[in-house]
Amino acid sequence: MQQVYVVHYHEIALKGRNRPDFLRQLQENICRATGLRKGSVKIVSGRLLVRPPLNLPLEKGEKIVRALQRTFGISSFSPAALVKAEYGEIVQAVKSSIVPSMELFTKWNTFAIRATRGDKEFSLTSKEIEVKLGDFVREKFKKKVDLESPDVTFYVEVFSAKGGSASGGPGGAVVYTEKIPGPGGLPVGTQGKAAVMLSGGIDSPVAAYRILKRGAPIVGVHFHSYPFTSRASIDKVKELAGVLARYGGPFKLFLVPLTDAQKAVIQNCEERYRVLLYRRLMVRIAQELARHEGAQALVTGEALGQVASQTIENIGVTDAAATLLILRPLIGYDKEEIIAEAKRIGTYEISILPHDDCCTIMMPKNPATRARLSDVEREEVKLEVSRLIDNALECAELITLPSPPLS
Ligand code: ATP
Ligand code: MG
Repeated sequence: MQQVYVVHYHEIALKGRNRPDFLRQLQENICRATGLRKGSVKIVSGRLLVRPPLNLPLEKGEKIVRALQRTFGISSFSPAALVKAEYGEIVQAVKSSIVPSMELFTKWNTFAIRATRGDKEFSLTSKEIEVKLGDFVREKFKKKVDLESPDVTFYVEVFSAKGGSASGGPGGAVVYTEKIPGPGGLPVGTQGKAAVMLSGGIDSPVAAYRILKRGAPIVGVHFHSYPFTSRASIDKVKELAGVLARYGGPFKLFLVPLTDAQKAVIQNCEERYRVLLYRRLMVRIAQELARHEGAQALVTGEALGQVASQTIENIGVTDAAATLLILRPLIGYDKEEIIAEAKRIGTYEISILPHDDCCTIMMPKNPATRARLSDVEREEVKLEVSRLIDNALECAELITLPSPPLS
């Protein structure tokens, strides 16, 4: 009998012929997040088995749990006992999952057995496993069956070596009583890369999380106005990138000075279009960096109507400057929903620290809320756009935030 974690996925199961690729990526990501070797993470039919080394210290086990909670593609996982696919061994596993928690044992009275049989050659059907094991637990431990709302559910899964085992893993059975939710989504690395425009505010880190969750690896691009503003926004964004690295692995971040471009806008262009002109320059610079990194899309934290620059008209004006696809995963979110998610993923407390955003510099008193593209373009011809872009690219600094050690 061995202590393992059974990892379940949901959406990957719908992937048909691409499923093996998605599973291999999930396997790789679990290894990276937990620090376990590839041989310790096996793909077996319909699930993955994570086998930590024997006699793992408790705190290492807790770290594996935290790593799995942050690995996209996992719908749920369970600490389990792995045994051979034999009824006698399954009974032992059920006993062993009760005995270590005798304290808990005294607190429950009712139970249910839920069995699935992936291995059709196993001598009992799932129904028969449930009935037979149910009788055993009832008689041995003097507990009552309650299929509606049991105090404890024993999950029994019998799986075969065939059907989906990329690494030729053995057949076997697992028994567990606890299901820990995973983050859902798809394994990072199963979609093309995207470059996230990270501001240091509340929204863009949540947008980054959403895109990672759908399987796209990301790089970050942050514009600052140093020395116009303090370095606080840079420090914040580094910290935010560090949090995102927990979910997606080491994080590449470009720090780009926008100061000269902003000065040119302030000196030459009509005040009410300032923010839109900054945004159009940002998009053009970011897409160059994105292409350089092999990214196929930009990501922003815009939500429709949240501020003046995020009306349909103004988003359209910004979009028109882009030749790369722009993804806006938060477009239909309310601010409250974004804040709740930021708190959950651990970026909120960093985002609310005070800083001067580069776009708040010389904010116009009356920004255009429904700008016309032709008006903005008329202002933009007053700028040496290509020179401003080249200068910013030349001064861009690249740093990599490592995946933080699990704590
Ligand atoms: P956030 O909370 O992400 O800062 P916001 O509600 O403050 O968003 P804006 O300031 O209008 O909205 O910015 C909209 C989007 O433009 C941001 O979500 C981000 O993707 C991008 N952006 C804004 N400022 C910067 C910046 N300094 N560097 C990189 N991207 C930026
Ligand atoms: Mg902002």
